[in-house]
Amino acid sequence: MSQKVIVTTKEQIQKMKKYYLSQLTSPPQGAIFRAKTNNAVITAYQSGKVLFQGSAPESEASKWGNVPLNDKKKHSLEQKHSYSPQAELFTDNHIGSDEAGTGDYFGPITVAALFATKEQQLKLKQIGVRDSKHLNDTKIKQIAKEIAHLQIPYSLLLLPNEKYNKLQAKGWSQGKMKAMLHHHAIDKLLQKIDVRSLKGIVIDQFCQPPVYKKYLQSEKKTLHPNTTFITKAESHSISVAAASILARARFVNAMDELSEEAKIELPKGASAKVDKTAARLIRSKGFEELDKYAKTHFANTQKAQKLL
Ligand code: MN
Repeated sequence: MSQKVIVTTKEQIQKMKKYYLSQLTSPPQGAIFRAKTNNAVITAYQSGKVLFQGSAPESEASKWGNVPLNDKKKHSLEQKHSYSPQAELFTDNHIGSDEAGTGDYFGPITVAALFATKEQQLKLKQIGVRDSKHLNDTKIKQIAKEIAHLQIPYSLLLLPNEKYNKLQAKGWSQGKMKAMLHHHAIDKLLQKIDVRSLKGIVIDQFCQPPVYKKYLQSEKKTLHPNTTFITKAESHSISVAAASILARARFVNAMDELSEEAKIELPKGASAKVDKTAARLIRSKGFEELDKYAKTHFANTQKAQKLL
């Protein structure tokens, strides 16, 4: 007897119960219903778990699939912690920070932090600042230029590949590098602004806040007051969305510069195309030169070597 488990919503479980109405049997304790078909015995629990057991549980379960949890439920499951921002902060004067280049084999990591007042947030919206995942690189570069013209205070940091590789060899995780970059970017920005008008800081969350704090502590730094974390922060905060655009634009420009220097168009991401380009780069410049262009601990290095 094999089995299959799916997780779904209460609404979906009620639909399933209706569907199996003529095949219901008495449910075990804690179950919403149990039904018996030719393929499987189906048991749905209060937790949202539905268990399919029998001769062909897969085929019965495939009728229902894994129903995605709605956003509210996701929010409560994944994001809530004691460092979550209050919703009011997103429309008040706040700093947002975000990074780019972390998943890309070639090119640096960049981090930007930006402080926007309520009024400046309106201006940022007007020039088209929004979640950068919906914007292409050309548009991102253009908006980044416009942000620079608005005289909104920000700081932008770039961690060159050679430095990245050194830190990595020293035992730093990428998470720690990101945490330190965010911290320094915010530090620099705090020196440029009147902190009395600042209501809080929003960091696009890439690790659990206690882990972030641990990274800072390992370098004898402490979290700035009123720092909050939320995943997909760029969809909640205009300051983060603007920081995200600045970081991405800086990354894209750095990729252009590195491509020019290497005389090879360096692709973004970490795909098979990246492996091929890395192999070309090793052939033309030598293995040692990768240090300047790539995050060499990525698996792409080994894959490129196999292509030589
Ligand atoms: Mn991010």
